[in-house]
Formats: sequence, C-alpha cells, structure tokens
Amino acid sequence: MARYTRFINGFVFRDDTLADNDEVWIDSQSGQIIDPNVHCPLAENTNIINLQGKIICPGFIDIQINGAFGFDFAGLDPNMSVIEFKQGLHATNQRLVTTGTTSYLPTMTSQFEKTYRKILPLLGPTGASRDAALGAESLGAHTEGPFFAHTKKGCHSPEAILSLGNTSPPKLLKQVYGEENLFSYVKMVTLAPEREGALDSIRELSQNGIVASIGHTAATYQEAVAGIIAGSKVITHLYNAMNSMHHREPGLFGLVACPRDKVFKDRPDMSDDGRPYYGLIADGLHVHPAAIRLAWETHPRGLILITDAVMLMGCEDGVHQWTNGQRIVKRGSLLQLEGLETIAGR
Ligand SMILES: [Zn+2]
Repeated sequence: MARYTRFINGFVFRDDTLADNDEVWIDSQSGQIIDPNVHCPLAENTNIINLQGKIICPGFIDIQINGAFGFDFAGLDPNMSVIEFKQGLHATNQRLVTTGTTSYLPTMTSQFEKTYRKILPLLGPTGASRDAALGAESLGAHTEGPFFAHTKKGCHSPEAILSLGNTSPPKLLKQVYGEENLFSYVKMVTLAPEREGALDSIRELSQNGIVASIGHTAATYQEAVAGIIAGSKVITHLYNAMNSMHHREPGLFGLVACPRDKVFKDRPDMSDDGRPYYGLIADGLHVHPAAIRLAWETHPRGLILITDAVMLMGCEDGVHQWTNGQRIVKRGSLLQLEGLETIAGR
C-alpha cells in the first residue's frame, strides 16, 4: 500500500476560501496532512486520487449533540430493542455527515442508572473500526448530568437530578454510569463543581483522560476556579444554565476573562494562553449575538462551537413528545417546553 495519498483536481477549503484546482497530501502512517515540499514523497510510494471537482474541507466535530432527525441518543425506551437502537444510530450517522459533522460526542441528558447502563455501551468511540462510508462517528459519549445544581437544570429531568445528582453523601460517577461504562465509553462529563464530592470526581475524570466540563451550575467564580484546579478544562454552553456575570462576582464568565496573572500557566491541556475552553450555542436564540461577540473578543482561542441539538433537529415544526413525559414545541430553531418559557439548553 502506498504510504502517501495525493488528492488532485479538486477545490480545497483553505484560509476561508475555496481554492480551485488545488491538491492535498496525506501520510497514511500518521494520518496527517503533509506539505509535499517538506516530506518529498516518491511517486512510486504515492496513490493519486482525482477528485474531479469535488471539495475537500475540514469536518465539524460536535462535542455536544443530544440527537438529530428524530433519533435521541438517550432514547432506548422499553419499546425499542437494542438492534432497533443501533439501526436508528446508524441512520442518524448517515444523515449527520451530510450537515458537515464528521464526528461527535453523543450527549445524554440526565437519566436514571438503568438507562445509562443500557445505552452507554452503544455510544462508545468508533475507534479503529472507523469507516467513512458509515457517516459521522462517535468519539465517545458526553454524559451531561445528573450532577447538577438543581436550580440550573434547564430541560433536564428534575427527578434524575434530585435522586442521583443531589444525594448526600454524593453518589459516585461510576455508581451512576457503571464503572466500565464510565472508563470505556464516556469521553466527557458535565457537572457542577460546587456540589459535594464534585472536585474529587473531576480529579478522577481528568486522571483517566475523561474531560470534566463545568456546567449546569450555580458556581461562583471561586468555585469555578476550584473546578479548574481540580482538573476541569472546559465550560459547558457558556452563559446557559449558569449565573450571569456580575462585575463583583463574574461567575464562570470570569474564567473566560481570567486576569492575565491568574491564568493556569502550568496546564498544557487548556487553550494555549492557559484559559479553559468553552462551548457556545451561537444560534442567536440561546445567546444574544452581542454576548457571542463578547466571548469571542475576550477569548477567541477557547471557543468551541456546539449545536446542543436535540432529536428534533431536522424534524417538522409542531408539538413533539419530549423525555420524561413532557412535550416540547418546535418553531424553527426555537424549542420550548410546552406551556413554559424554558429553552432547551438554557
Ligand atoms: Zn445543557
């Protein structure tokens, strides 16, 4: 097998423009795009693919997406077999890739123990079995909850949060998700750092290569800093489901605007200036455009665009069944619990 692949005769998305009749080289050993002038690949070691006018561009990696096209990643209910769930997941992957998303963290809203144990083994990372023909791929599950501040639950199930996420002494993550599920299939956990036991959980997650993200939280700035010191490096959907910034108590936004002498210099896992990354729902509904710009201008290198999409993405407007017996009203991109003002993800 040729070590190098050369894509020719296509359009290449480069520096915000589509470059005509451009080419891309890939080293199949490292999987990386290379500069042929530096690596000087030999012709006999190169496989040439004629794109015939097709486009090469980066894929979108969505670290927070709950479902799409009518399929809910947490939706293995008693009426659905595991085979049906896998078929639904497969079909969703095929359609998701048409939106430009090539890989993602299938995200579960707060659930009960038995649901985590059933579903997490089905949402693990594709890993070496990756096949581009199968569409978008999972990089591992994102469990959002149930270790939240109950005042910042958004559209999540209050029962799951109160019965699992707000116990004292606190339940351990591995008790709720299942130990093997947590360490084999979960890549990211959103939790509130001010909750009893949360800092120990953040330490355990980061020591095991799982991203601990701060979110659905009533944390003060100092409590959020404690979460970062414990090992967290991401904020879940900045502005939504957290306290607003106050000039004397900036809350989580204070991490984004961290004073220069207070950045986490010894943390190479964070963005390159020592501040945490942050997810942002930049749809103009969850966050005002001015607030989007404020975050971007303050800390552009930390911004991670997320969709936080739910299963109704790509579905018709109207009233739809939601989790836990609730119903949700969809009007374009706006989703609200029936009879309430709550926006999904707020
Ligand atoms: Zn959320």
